Amino acid sequence: MSVNMNLTRAQFDEVMVPNYAPSPVIPVRGDGSRVWDQEGKEYVDFAGGIAVNCLGHCHPAAVEALKAQGEKLWHLSNVMTNEPALALATKLVNATFADKVYFANSGAEANEAALKLARRYALDNFGAEKDQIIAFDKAFHGRTFFTVSVGGQAAYSDGFGPKPQGITHLPFNDVAALEAAVSDKTCAIMLEPLQGEGGIINATPEFLAKARELADKHNALVVFDEVQTGVGRTGELYAYMGTDIVPDILTTAKALGGGFPIAAMLTTDKIAAHLKVGTHGSTYGGNPLACAVSNAVFDVVNTPEVLQGVKRREQLLRDGLEKINAKYQVFSEVRGKGLLLGAVLNEQYQGRSREFLLASVDNGLMTLMAGANVVRFTPSLIIPESDIAEGLARFEKAVAKVVAA
Ligand SMILES: *Cc1c(COP(=O)(O)O)cnc(C)c1O
Repeated sequence: MSVNMNLTRAQFDEVMVPNYAPSPVIPVRGDGSRVWDQEGKEYVDFAGGIAVNCLGHCHPAAVEALKAQGEKLWHLSNVMTNEPALALATKLVNATFADKVYFANSGAEANEAALKLARRYALDNFGAEKDQIIAFDKAFHGRTFFTVSVGGQAAYSDGFGPKPQGITHLPFNDVAALEAAVSDKTCAIMLEPLQGEGGIINATPEFLAKARELADKHNALVVFDEVQTGVGRTGELYAYMGTDIVPDILTTAKALGGGFPIAAMLTTDKIAAHLKVGTHGSTYGGNPLACAVSNAVFDVVNTPEVLQGVKRREQLLRDGLEKINAKYQVFSEVRGKGLLLGAVLNEQYQGRSREFLLASVDNGLMTLMAGANVVRFTPSLIIPESDIAEGLARFEKAVAKVVAA
């Protein structure tokens, strides 16, 4: 096949596998919370990739770390360890419940490691019968076959042949269903403390407390998927810190590298001991370039200034969305936490979140959906307050356009 190098949106359909349907425009440059496309049109970024660019685009500390490491050492594989990986693991351990870190390259891979570790821990300690993974409707844990099967949307896991077994799905936040399902056969309860892709749904304190209690009673592990909620997104370094419980395994990705691919699984000494030499691994996991960038990002995010700033920005965004809603009546509520917010479309606008997203792009604003009924906002954790105001002004125009249509 021979295709011209004209780099347009139309070319996507010529040379890319059709599993995505990207926007009509192609961004070429970003700076902080602003992005420019091929035509020079400027956008306010309320999406940050998908909750990834926690320090906006091209943050000087991250750029500096990338350049410095780029001139030193790019890659070794895990045949040898490296200084940036050791530094990052030490920071993660010092800042959380965890004693040990495993590095991966994506959220799905970190979750894959978490699930394999939970199974191995149960097998080693209690035998092969203890293999049940409790998971939840609408959960999202990534697209490997194990993680997508643990995820709670059959549409994503159907159609690929026989699925991994031993997975039980329950309604999220249903304490009674949890109580009925967990037994000595359960090896892990896996959940997002705030469901992201599923529609921005907070776990209730009662539900989390029951998960912890039942897991303890039945020697099962609690696995928190903090791929989206982690690294300051909710105003805590990790969302579990804003709850009354501590997980046994936690996964983190998306914002961890601020836009550079990296992920990690965190756990305790006792559990980590079961991933013995040779049981699991990754070529790129803990790559020095990724870890160097992530160290720089982590140092900026893990400060009271940035974490408290998330809560202030949350308030500004909520206030602005409420004002828009008072005028146009499109949402039934704004939910979520920190800078992981979802505006839930009311009866009249059910199923139309994509229209709001496209109208936003037309008006110079990047937003996201979380299913067909929720418009999702996940801006940079340090987005300037003036950019929040400008983004909201553009969103109001987008809302007005959808309402008038
Ligand atoms: C995005 C996401 C994943 C998958 O991460 P990838 O890097 O795309 O593999 C897993 N869990 C949650 C909660 C996510 O939001």
